[in-house]
Amino acid sequence: MDVTTARERLEDMLAELDRSIGVLQGDPVAVREHSAADAGSDLTDADRAQAMLTVATAQRQAIMEALKRIDEGVYGRCVDCGSPVPEGRLEARPEAARCVQCQGKQERRR
Ligand SMILES: [Zn+2]
Repeated sequence: MDVTTARERLEDMLAELDRSIGVLQGDPVAVREHSAADAGSDLTDADRAQAMLTVATAQRQAIMEALKRIDEGVYGRCVDCGSPVPEGRLEARPEAARCVQCQGKQERRR
């Protein structure tokens, strides 16, 4: 995948995420649930919105970093080992920062 296509896809994903984040942050149901929430252990809509917001924010960060790598001319290279990230992986996840091997190591460290 060439960087022009990658940038377009990343920018589309970013716009989509920004919309989602805006909805999650401004969702009137989530806000109402949140203010009315008691100390119950059940997940409220507000908790779910918060969890989705956390995921969306992390995703947004990964996309911003990928766009920065395009600007720096290092897009498509693993941030850990410098090997090319396989094409198929970038097709599936244009924001991927690591090759499959390094991503596996990263996840095992958690
Ligand atoms: Zn790697």
